[in-house]
Amino acid sequence: MQIVPGLHLVDGMGAVVNVYVWERPDGGLTLIDAGMPKDAAKILAFAGTLGIERLDRIIITHGDIDHIGGLAEVQAATGARVICHAVEKDIIEGRQARDMGYGPVARVYVPLMAMVTERFMGYRPVKKVDELVLDKQMLPDGFQVVHSPGHTAGLIALHQPERGILIVGDAFGSRDGKLHMPVAMATPHKDVARDSIRRLAEIKGVQVICCGHGAPVTQNAEARLQAFAASLES
Ligand SMILES: [Zn+2]
Repeated sequence: MQIVPGLHLVDGMGAVVNVYVWERPDGGLTLIDAGMPKDAAKILAFAGTLGIERLDRIIITHGDIDHIGGLAEVQAATGARVICHAVEKDIIEGRQARDMGYGPVARVYVPLMAMVTERFMGYRPVKKVDELVLDKQMLPDGFQVVHSPGHTAGLIALHQPERGILIVGDAFGSRDGKLHMPVAMATPHKDVARDSIRRLAEIKGVQVICCGHGAPVTQNAEARLQAFAASLES
């Protein structure tokens, strides 16, 4: 489904997580996130409708299983370069567990998730990340990186200034047009996450907000984000 000219939401993913495809002016395709392990075939099929040979870059917003599940398979099928924030690299390459904070949830959740993703979902990490990016970096895809930590330490949002597109990963989510904080249990640093949302709300000219979960916000996007940020407790 085309959200705005040049930006597509991969069809047929179901309600779990969103994957986006960006048609670059140079003719290439940039995939943004890679869904669950079972989603790789759907992503490849969708990219095939636009020209699979054009898919040469994959930007990962953050290293959660529902955003990197299909990464290794899509990368192997296309040879695309994999791009993420420097802090997220070891998680995406499977050498470090996701930070869940220091509470009892972390002690149970981290080993449990590793077992579930490997044994039951057949997840394998991508072999290597090719490009590491930092805050404010302008990417050849036309996006500026907005480092938005809190949910994970290396989460990045992507801002496309000419078309007013803001892709936020799980910096926050949308549900029925309302914006909300990322899932509490999987957001170990909520104060940092709130600061990231306030920073995203300072971006001017936002027309479209695309979250990792929930429908894209295409009406009054900038005002809605500003109101959401203002509503957050300090
Ligand atoms: Zn996440």
